[in-house]
Amino acid sequence: MGIIADRLSRIKPSPTVAVSNKAAEMKAAGEDVIGLGAGEPDFDTPEHIKQAAAAAMAAGKTKYAPVAGIAELRRAICDKLKRDNGLTYTPDQITVGCGGKQTIYNAMMATLNPGDQVIIPAPYWVSYPDITLLAEGEPVIVDCPESDNFKLKPEALEAAITPKTKWLMLNSPSNPTGAAYTRADLKALAEVLLRHPQVWVMTDDMYEFIIYDDFEFTTIAQVEPKLYERTLTLNGLSKAYCMTGWRVGYAAGAVDVIKAMNKVQSQSTTSTSTISQWASVAALDGDHSFIAEHNKVFKERRDLVVAMLNQATGLTCATPEGAFYVYPSCAGTIGRQTPDGKTIETDEDFVTYLLEAEGVAAVHGEAFGLSPHFRISYATSTEALEEACRRIQRACAALR
Ligand code: GLU
Repeated sequence: MGIIADRLSRIKPSPTVAVSNKAAEMKAAGEDVIGLGAGEPDFDTPEHIKQAAAAAMAAGKTKYAPVAGIAELRRAICDKLKRDNGLTYTPDQITVGCGGKQTIYNAMMATLNPGDQVIIPAPYWVSYPDITLLAEGEPVIVDCPESDNFKLKPEALEAAITPKTKWLMLNSPSNPTGAAYTRADLKALAEVLLRHPQVWVMTDDMYEFIIYDDFEFTTIAQVEPKLYERTLTLNGLSKAYCMTGWRVGYAAGAVDVIKAMNKVQSQSTTSTSTISQWASVAALDGDHSFIAEHNKVFKERRDLVVAMLNQATGLTCATPEGAFYVYPSCAGTIGRQTPDGKTIETDEDFVTYLLEAEGVAAVHGEAFGLSPHFRISYATSTEALEEACRRIQRACAALR
């Protein structure tokens, strides 16, 4: 009998975090590595948000916060959901956790019984299935190939639902593909869900504000008010506000679900940092003009990366509507040989080759449940991206 619990054998360490940590370590050791692994904006947290944190510290707001989050932040979140999404929530319907990841973890721990099923469209963010498994649920993966624009089709949803289905996980714009659901897409999925009252929806709206080309963001409870009661709306400050290290995510939903999530959190982290919460109040209530400025830069980078990857032999890359990821196919490299005689058999082989031959760190598609692809985060300097894409082109050209 070993010291490590059996439940750990069901999961793996987060591959996105692993790739970013590895790239950072290699860089620190003096290696010439360009990290395109982390989904983290390179922009600094806006100054007015930092100042709000400093002011909170100066005013002694450095003690424990309530488990659900400080009242001012829950009020600011309710205002945000009303303003941006037309959704009415009261503060007792809001919980704040340490990043989007912990709110999802709390939700799964609070609601899943052993064997309860969670429908997860693939490609998915790496943590959805593993958090489900930690909570003793059963991930039901539904393939959403590139030919469906990486989006869940209503027929596929209908076919995946069983009496054991508890949640459908939605994420738009998507990590890792950047694909985003239109109002019509969501309406069609909602029609299926209305026929299955046992199925609840977790919608991860973390990339809500990072959209391009006049795409109009909508979320499922807004599109179909009849689903409001059984929707858990998840969001956070990390991406749009460039606050990844501040660790603030939140959920809005039915009071009994939120209460249960708070119960879980009260026995783990208690709350996220009080200082981060005051900074988040300033972020949500404050000026948002920096988001449009960032999006302009992100869009230029997206277009650059898509164009350069499509010029690489063996790669094809679709243009996504949002987030800061592209999810190119590397199907054309499979079966080919690297200059030192290794055959590329999987997308993992391909990203390993990119790292070893050219010092470019990306995440293999298998981690997101759809191969052969890989994910590139373009939330990094334009210069570094251009150089990385040149290296990828060179690596692809060297395959025989
Ligand atoms: N969500 C980001 C990503 O996908 C951060 C890393 C993580 O938590 O997975 O890269």
